[in-house]
Amino acid sequence: MIPFSPPRIDQKIIDAVVDTLQSGWITTGPKTKLFEQNLCEYTSAKKVLCVSSASAGLELALRWFGVQEGDEVIVPAYTYAASANVIIHCGAKPVFVDSGKDLNVLVEDIKQKITSKTKVIIPVDIAGFPCDYDEINALVKQQEIRANFNARTKEQEKLGRILILSDAAHSLGAIYKGKKIGSLTDITVFSFHAVKNLTTAEGGALCFNLPDFFNHDDLYKQLNTKSLHGQTKDALSKMQIGNWQYDIVEAGYKFNMTDIQAAMGLVELERYDRDMLVKRKSIFDFYNIHFSSTDWAIIPEYETEEKTSSYHVFTLRIKGINEEIRNQIMQQIFQDGVSVNVHFIPLPKMTYYKSLGYKMGDYPQAFNNYEQLISLPVFYDLSEKQMQKIVEVVKNAVESILFNR
Ligand SMILES: *Cc1c(COP(=O)(O)O)cnc(C)c1O
Repeated sequence: MIPFSPPRIDQKIIDAVVDTLQSGWITTGPKTKLFEQNLCEYTSAKKVLCVSSASAGLELALRWFGVQEGDEVIVPAYTYAASANVIIHCGAKPVFVDSGKDLNVLVEDIKQKITSKTKVIIPVDIAGFPCDYDEINALVKQQEIRANFNARTKEQEKLGRILILSDAAHSLGAIYKGKKIGSLTDITVFSFHAVKNLTTAEGGALCFNLPDFFNHDDLYKQLNTKSLHGQTKDALSKMQIGNWQYDIVEAGYKFNMTDIQAAMGLVELERYDRDMLVKRKSIFDFYNIHFSSTDWAIIPEYETEEKTSSYHVFTLRIKGINEEIRNQIMQQIFQDGVSVNVHFIPLPKMTYYKSLGYKMGDYPQAFNNYEQLISLPVFYDLSEKQMQKIVEVVKNAVESILFNR
């Protein structure tokens, strides 16, 4: 069976983890701080804070901005549950928007759904392909939208407009108009979960690029404290001789990254552009060449004049099929020894979100993208022979099912 996306665990990663275990320091410490600095350089963000997951990072950002009951947060219907669940945790209401044909949020639909209750927009770079950031950033600065913004906390008052919090769980290394993801919106959150391009088993990072009237060093301190029970000193500085006293300034969270995770991240980041992204691009190119010769395949956009993907998920779509046929095709592919997936089942199809009254029919393009989509394996150790098998198995499954209908 060809797996879908196993992590890249080589001797270098193993050595880095063992090194950390033997160093005497396994929780948040020097390696986490170094990983933050390296991510900051890599993304050109103003400041980076590492946390235990992207979900934790998104929630931390919403809590910092003071999102609460009575507020609305705009998020795509077509994303993983984490992007919307964190809004629910804060007591606010997720307002879903429909997708475009590139799977990303439709800026026009965002615009229509902004109300005086909107506090945050969470765009998601689906499959690693950047959203239309110039348009999204411009939207929240428009005079009439700004005038309609109803600040309820001092952070909201200071920003004076809707916050853009991008869910970049898929898009580390992706480029938009010459700039790396992480430097484009107020706050960007990456995921280092086991299936993501760069993995620390579990992990995440927040990149800050708020306007300069926010002091980013203070912001870092504030969110770092919030990510560790509101404690004024972290474990490492408490270890210094005589430095045992600390205070708790708020009922914060337990969202910190460990040095074991950061050790993996440091190895991966150092070789990310020249190795991981090169390999992933070659897999995308291979699929592109082999599927674009068929008359049924819709190839995902991954390189345009303005945007370069991080090549996270290859989202192949099949023209004109419905959910039932797609599922039959997937079944056949699995039987022939290839693991495939669907990114994503839209949130209005989920029991919980249905129970809140959301309806799939309200997001027709998201549903259309979903029903025609099959995500193919993309991972570092995928061999040329395996890629050939995947192409053959997928073509066979699609053609035998389409032509025998
Ligand atoms: C994986 C994923 C997340 C959550 O990341 P974690 O680090 O597991 O919390 C959020 N959003 C999207 C779109 C994802 O795919």
